[in-house]
Amino acid sequence: MSYDLVVRSRQTVLPEGTRAAAIAVSGPAIAAIEDYSAPLQARREVDVGDLALLPGLVDTHVHVNEPGRTEWEGFATATQAAAAGGVTTICDMPLNSLPPTTSVAALEEKRAAATGKCWVDVAFWGGAVPGNQAALRPMHQAGVVGFKCFLLDSGVPEFPPLDVAGLRSVLGTLATADALLIAHAEDAAEIKPASGRDFWSFVKSRPPVAERRAIEKVISAAAGTGARAHIVHLSAAECVAMIAAAKAAGIRLTAETCPHYLYFAAEQVPDGATEFKSCPPIRDAVNREALWRGLEAGVIDCVVSDHSPCPPDLKAPSSGDFGEAWGGIASLQLGLSAVWTVARSRGRTLDDMARWMAAAPADLAGLPAKGRLAVGNDADLVAFDPGEAYLVDPARLHHRHKVTPYAGRTLTGRVRQTWLRGTPLLDDDGLLQGKGEAPVGRLLKRG
Ligand SMILES: [Zn+2]
Repeated sequence: MSYDLVVRSRQTVLPEGTRAAAIAVSGPAIAAIEDYSAPLQARREVDVGDLALLPGLVDTHVHVNEPGRTEWEGFATATQAAAAGGVTTICDMPLNSLPPTTSVAALEEKRAAATGKCWVDVAFWGGAVPGNQAALRPMHQAGVVGFKCFLLDSGVPEFPPLDVAGLRSVLGTLATADALLIAHAEDAAEIKPASGRDFWSFVKSRPPVAERRAIEKVISAAAGTGARAHIVHLSAAECVAMIAAAKAAGIRLTAETCPHYLYFAAEQVPDGATEFKSCPPIRDAVNREALWRGLEAGVIDCVVSDHSPCPPDLKAPSSGDFGEAWGGIASLQLGLSAVWTVARSRGRTLDDMARWMAAAPADLAGLPAKGRLAVGNDADLVAFDPGEAYLVDPARLHHRHKVTPYAGRTLTGRVRQTWLRGTPLLDDDGLLQGKGEAPVGRLLKRG
């Protein structure tokens, strides 16, 4: 039998562990996994040697903002950044676009806006807001991967938060469809207004207790309804124990954290450096260490970007005022390197990386063909040099806007090639191949 593509690597990161192997691809899918030196017939053959071969990453937390706020980001630029960063599937958040994805009609608008622009595969979250409960089931049937809600002001007026009664009611509805609710968990009652250039004042305005109080509400509502709930962008490590206890009690709860919480610490943030602003905030180094332990212990399930860009005048106002700046960090292209830089120094392996950034997010979003190098899965592959260090040059980022707290940092681990369903996406300069050709990404539905 002749395959379309064979990729060989001495460090192939398989679900059962890393070993030398050859991945044989037929059409869009992995057809066989053989020994590294197995004789195989193929139209194209690539031997990446000592480079690692990872499953394409699945980033379930990306704000693309198109349509409606396309000047903030967009499907073309976001998916190019994803491809360059080894991310082959993104799940687009339901807010910041106009309209927000809170109805089937809005989902169709979003899909229309994305059609023909995507360099990687794109799935969609729906939104759960006050008053749209009747739209949840139809959106679930239309293939969204789950529903996002806020428990405090989202930052945009068209995506209001749920109160405690609304949260419980939505979870009750979703439980009947076995659909997932993901929650931005901060409690407004514990948050003070912030202003000024001092990062510590901003961090103190959104203390860990704000996350804790909101997560308690999610746990209580999940326990009371039997629904599946997920905490997005966990920053406060003191919540790890509570999440672990909920899981141990059989409550269907999962949690994610983000590269910026694992890489940066508040001690490093200069006054007025609003490119570091996110909600919840980057906290101190002690918190970061505890967050890592929560991840290593398996309480935190996945690491995804919360890529949330906006134009430079909103992200970095000349005042340097943390109250004024948009809270969101753009890192779709850099997440793998940022997390690996720290993970490697802690003795973690590429198997851990593949679990945290590919398999677990694929499971969360219900995308069984993604996130693992396994026969029958989509041939989404990443050739990754785990030892190569590089300086982050914002000019080389494909994000629409280049403002990033990673500028000038040296990260370890570089993506050398990304294949989407067997199609290579990068050329030797790290630029996207096939300029002028149609992008090969597809719009995905859950399952
Ligand atoms: Zn977000």
